[in-house]
Amino acid sequence: MPSLRTLADFLDDILQIATIPDYANAVNGVQLANIGDIQRIATAVDFSSESVRGAIDTGARLLIVHHGMFWGGVQPITEHRHQRLWNLITHDVAVYSAHLPLDVHPEIGNNALLAKRLGLMPSAGFARYQSIEVGLSGTSDIPTHLIADRARELAQQFGGTLIAPTIPEGRRTLGWGICTGAGADSSTLREAAKRQLDTLIVGEGPHHTAVEARELGIVVLYAGHYATETLGVRALGDLLAERFSVSSAFIDVPTGL
Ligand SMILES: [Zn+2]
Repeated sequence: MPSLRTLADFLDDILQIATIPDYANAVNGVQLANIGDIQRIATAVDFSSESVRGAIDTGARLLIVHHGMFWGGVQPITEHRHQRLWNLITHDVAVYSAHLPLDVHPEIGNNALLAKRLGLMPSAGFARYQSIEVGLSGTSDIPTHLIADRARELAQQFGGTLIAPTIPEGRRTLGWGICTGAGADSSTLREAAKRQLDTLIVGEGPHHTAVEARELGIVVLYAGHYATETLGVRALGDLLAERFSVSSAFIDVPTGL
């Protein structure tokens, strides 16, 4: 059975935790240590009381999340924050978090897997953040309706809904961009227009992005922050299961968003 150190070294390495930039609260890597070896792992999109409970119930000794323990910033360890920390420590469960490093991974990253799921072949990056491009883009010649149908299926599989404008009959997607999670904002729209992308697939975005997109002639498909970020953590769980002969369970806690 591998130790936390063995699994964390492997994850740190394949996800390039030390070099990929991120928001300060992401705190990528091991966030909470444990003591014993690890036979079962659990993965979840969000660190929450429910994902912690789910991990403990499956007998996991490691919980891997995309949005980690410190996502909400510095807060007192009281009430539910104290309870979940207590639960983790008393059940000897470690926590490992991978945010942008998991978004950008070329094989098991959220963006690469979303492109695959939608039947799109990436040829370039998209959505610049500091020194990296978080998302992906490419060319195609397929009905926008078809991409929307596939995106809707993913959204519904994980308790969400596809939010999209009315797509004109016969519209085809020739250039697309993907950025999972909170992928739509003024800068991604500007970038899309500059790169002549006509379709964006994101998790979510503020209302004004739908207005701006219409002005630019871009169709934005909002497939759900949660749904679009279930892909990476599940793939990471499968990879660890295969590589280290541990078992892996995905703890599905849909937010509806
Ligand atoms: Zn996210």
